[in-house]
Amino acid sequence: MAANIIDGKAFAATVREKVAGHVTRLKEEHDITPGLAVVLVGEDPASQVYVRSKGKQTVEVGMNSFEHKLDAETSEADLLALIDKLNNDPTVHGILVQLPLPKHLDEDLVINSIAPEKDVDGFHISNVGLLGTGQKSMVPCTPLGCLMMLRDYHGSLSGMDAVVIGRSNIVGKPMAQLLLGDSCTVTIAHSRTKDLPEVVRRADIVVAAVGRPEMVPGDWIKEGATVIDVGINRIERDGKNKLVGDVDFASCAERAGAITPVPGGVGPMTIACLLANTVTACCRANNLAEPEGLTA
Ligand code: NAD
Repeated sequence: MAANIIDGKAFAATVREKVAGHVTRLKEEHDITPGLAVVLVGEDPASQVYVRSKGKQTVEVGMNSFEHKLDAETSEADLLALIDKLNNDPTVHGILVQLPLPKHLDEDLVINSIAPEKDVDGFHISNVGLLGTGQKSMVPCTPLGCLMMLRDYHGSLSGMDAVVIGRSNIVGKPMAQLLLGDSCTVTIAHSRTKDLPEVVRRADIVVAAVGRPEMVPGDWIKEGATVIDVGINRIERDGKNKLVGDVDFASCAERAGAITPVPGGVGPMTIACLLANTVTACCRANNLAEPEGLTA
């Protein structure tokens, strides 16, 4: 079987279009422009690229982008003071602190100082608790993007066996919560899981979020399963730099019913969902109806 390719790049474009439509409506009908503040501490090159891309796409959908670039030596007190200011700024509806932070800053403390209703990354402990108890929350962008693609492809996910490989707070765990919320039977596999190939073989849905290049071979995949590859791994092959996922695309595509490519799968959906979360946060802050299809 040759798998259907789930085109995350095209899907992300439709999400951005929807977001842009809502932004226009908010401006025209309510005179409100959603605003996203992104805080970058230090000069990590990958983080700089992400922040630039987030700022560019925020402006492209018609929202205000506020970028705050702080030196690597910024004190915790100064960072917390900035977050406090953004928490109290009514023109800012979403706040994102780019991770990782320099070692001297306490990531948990910083994330938990963001007002939960502006926490568009969905990492604040309140949002984690709300998601875990099935209440309205801000949902982490990468798993939200995966969920949107799965719902779009399958319609209902109810009763499907889902295996999430990876138990990080930013991908694996929230992904499992979202799949559970959509009535899947969910297994979270991780580095200590026994007989991972057998665990993965029973899945109708496999979400790989490990960070190990091409770790999942095709013979772990049940015939017809849907494979969502979250991994972004830079490798060198044939003297060239290449981006690959956590699954071996060629062999998995032979057996899967559908699969996301890397690049062009989950990656583009992540920023699109950040924009979606910002518009959702703006609607909630102003007691307006939330856009449909942009939240979990
Ligand atoms: P992480 O390092 O925080 O977590 C990795 C998880 O994989 C851990 O829970 C660990 O238990 C598990 N693991 C490690 N080795 C394993 C093994 N041999 N077998 C089974 N499980 C194993 O990583 P993360 O932040 O969750 O990111 C995972 C991957 O997703 C990375 O490649 C990252 O770059 C990528 N990512 C992509 C996006 C995106 O927008 N597409 C967003 C976030 C992360």
